[in-house]
Amino acid sequence: MPAIKFRGVDFIQYDSLLTDEERLVRDTTRQFIEDNLIPIIEECNRAGRFPRELVKPMADLGFFGASLKGYGCAGMGNVEYGLMTQELERGDSGVRSFVSVQSGLVMYPIYEFGSDEQKQTWLPAMQKGEKLGCFGLTEPDFGSNPGGMRTRAKKVGKEYVLNGEKMWITSGSIADVAIIWAKVENEDDMIRGFLVETNRPGFKADDIHGKWSLRASVTSGLSLQDVHIPESNLLTKTGGLKSPLMCLNQARYGIAWGALGAAMSCYDTALQYSLLRKQWRDQPIASHQLVQDKLAWMISEITKAQLLVLQVGRLKDAGKVEHQHISMAKRNNVWMALECARMSRDILGANGVADDYPIMRHMMNLESVKTYEGTHDVHSLIIGQSVTGIDAF
Ligand SMILES: Cc1cc2nc3c(=O)[nH]c(=O)nc-3n(C[C@H](O)[C@H](O)[C@H](O)COP(=O)(O)OP(=O)(O)OC[C@H]3O[C@@H](n4cnc5c(N)ncnc54)[C@H](O)[C@@H]3O)c2cc1C
Repeated sequence: MPAIKFRGVDFIQYDSLLTDEERLVRDTTRQFIEDNLIPIIEECNRAGRFPRELVKPMADLGFFGASLKGYGCAGMGNVEYGLMTQELERGDSGVRSFVSVQSGLVMYPIYEFGSDEQKQTWLPAMQKGEKLGCFGLTEPDFGSNPGGMRTRAKKVGKEYVLNGEKMWITSGSIADVAIIWAKVENEDDMIRGFLVETNRPGFKADDIHGKWSLRASVTSGLSLQDVHIPESNLLTKTGGLKSPLMCLNQARYGIAWGALGAAMSCYDTALQYSLLRKQWRDQPIASHQLVQDKLAWMISEITKAQLLVLQVGRLKDAGKVEHQHISMAKRNNVWMALECARMSRDILGANGVADDYPIMRHMMNLESVKTYEGTHDVHSLIIGQSVTGIDAF
């Protein structure tokens, strides 16, 4: 079977809804992924290796903090940013996760909640990929309900002292700085964000091994034992759970687009394969009605998902997006992508379980994507709360 090369997915002249700049960002990212990630991703996935060699080239293309303005950042519109994450995840969810964390979960909170000094110290270096970041919210006992967190910060003189455990932290052991969310003892346990340099005494990051998902992304547990940081490391504008949730909204928006990329990769692989693979009377399997039904389902759902994220992106550009809009896009598109991965895997038969094709890797990655940044069901509750006014958590 000849190698299958991604051709893009556009059933309803979707491209005509995009500006020239938006198409340029998508096409540039697509080419970068084709040239740099596709040739190595299966090896990275097998080895459980994050392709760190791509950090600098990604920085050079403006992928980090891409939607922020100033500090060397690209200042992309939200649809451009979304199309970039779509193409990154068409390559691999792990690489897209790295970019989402660096941009939406570390640079964004510094940009939004940080002092001028914090911004000058971190943002240009992070944009260039010289410094990497991670976001520590989840704990061993608190995932969907982060408000229960046990990590504590105590003000002592001109310092804060941090103690606690964080779990499932993307890029934890490769980060230079961690955004740590903690309850401040002297402030009625209010949740606040802190910049913690990872070389401080008492800070430890240990990688989680044995993941069947996001194998090309580093995931770690963090331990903070009497970690002293100067008071100037507090992100002063943070206050309450709303602050980390604002960061998650940024990252969830990128995920909604990213999942679409994984779905497109699976669908296009299955479509091309079904036209090449012959069974029964020397006919391609694409000639069977049941195979066509799967392809029709996938192209319909991908097209609907494209329109959903595009509208959410346009609302975000207009400053009119609400968190429940982003929840709908994340929930729908990740579910849709997982269904596409399962159907595409089926169309490839036995070949579907091998890493000569990207489908099984996408399927396993998407299981994490379904869980992180608010699980599928948590987003159901957010949408339910929005339409009924009733909190069902
Ligand atoms: C690979 C990977 C990378 C990650 N990276 C990061 C990171 O960088 N930073 C970070 O802070 N976190 C990260 N996470 C953690 C992630 O955000 C959490 O796993 C997620 O919030 C879910 O928490 P949990 O795993 O503890 O599941 P739980 O909260 O224990 O949920 C388990 C199940 O219970 C369901 N459930 C929970 N509450 C309700 C309810 N009220 N009603 C109905 N059902 C409910 C959930 O939907 C889910 O199905 C990562 C996770 C993974 C897998």
